[in-house]
Amino acid sequence: MRTFDDTYRHKGLRKQLVDLLKQKGITDERVLTAILQVPRHFFLDSALDRVAYEDRAFPIAEGQTISQPYTVAYQTQLLEVKPYEKVLEIGTGSGYQAIILGEMNAQVYTIERQKKLFEEHRKFILRGKYPNIKYFYGDGYEGLPTYGPFDKVIVTAAAPYIPPKLIEQLKTGGKMVIPVGEGNVQRMLRLTKQADGSVTEELFDNFSFVPMLEGKNQ
Ligand code: SAH
Repeated sequence: MRTFDDTYRHKGLRKQLVDLLKQKGITDERVLTAILQVPRHFFLDSALDRVAYEDRAFPIAEGQTISQPYTVAYQTQLLEVKPYEKVLEIGTGSGYQAIILGEMNAQVYTIERQKKLFEEHRKFILRGKYPNIKYFYGDGYEGLPTYGPFDKVIVTAAAPYIPPKLIEQLKTGGKMVIPVGEGNVQRMLRLTKQADGSVTEELFDNFSFVPMLEGKNQ
């Protein structure tokens, strides 16, 4: 069960979380403001209400997770999202990252391969507040060719390799933030697409994501 009451206590806890993220090195004010605005406890079972603003990942349905706030902030900061940009997200999961991007006024296209997780977003209470977010059930390795090209791509599952179709669907000058690696640890990469179709790579910190799997799951 979930509760959708955003109290002063929740708002206070969000402010403390934002202060912690600043201490951990997040500087982008637009990212911090979005985290301050979005009620993360709405995405979690009410049993987790007391800990929803701790800087931790939590389990959601289907053995998946809602990413740690620091990880969401880190990836979003690297993405350098500007208002009205088209952003493709792979791995909707709880929808928290998508809504952070929506709160920053991006045009968000988010894909989830688990049917049950995808279906939950249909009835989610914040859905109506963000008409700029579109939810898709599909395989992130395929991207969304009919909706591209995108200014930005963010992958929120551990990719064993860089999916070529996602590079194809990036605009020239577009950026992709993706944790790459098999096993328990992945390296965060930021790729920038060049005019000749090649990409330049920047390397960032290590993180631990659930795997990006091939195909859809009923
Ligand atoms: N962005 C999420 C993080 C979810 S965890 C959040 O803010 O909560 C990663 C998600 O990626 C899981 O829900 C998993 O089912 C999904 N996923 C894994 N492989 C995928 C693929 N190939 N295409 C789409 N989604 C995928």
